Amino acid sequence: MIKKVEHIGVAVKSLNESIPVFEKLLGSTCYKVEEVSDQKVKTAFFKVGETKIELLEATSPDSPIAKFIEKRGEGVHHIAFEVEDIEKKLVELKELNFQLIDEKPRLGAENFLIAFLHPKSVNGVLTEICQHQNEMNK
Ligand code: ZN
Repeated sequence: MIKKVEHIGVAVKSLNESIPVFEKLLGSTCYKVEEVSDQKVKTAFFKVGETKIELLEATSPDSPIAKFIEKRGEGVHHIAFEVEDIEKKLVELKELNFQLIDEKPRLGAENFLIAFLHPKSVNGVLTEICQHQNEMNK
């Protein structure tokens, strides 16, 4: 079962320039900046009710975010859905013919296990499935 939209990822050229824009828009301050070296991104988070906005800046020219911006410009990059059991959900989604980018979950920002579905199988929407690590022991 999907619990909620955990966050919406937005590709930006510069966190330094974009953080103040989103602080103005949302009327709240960025509560965390975190680098995810695995994905070659630096992330900045804002709380919006039950969900979050995740700004993503590339830390290397071969980062997926750098490639995305090169092709499509800045903008909404992915939607992340939180689940209780990511391993189980990935098996289910595969059976339903969704194309997995990550067969196995990997570590993302904010202590989440994450996996992406290919946008080709989700109407062009890059979809992230995530599970908070604290849920593991429940
Ligand atoms: Zn994300």
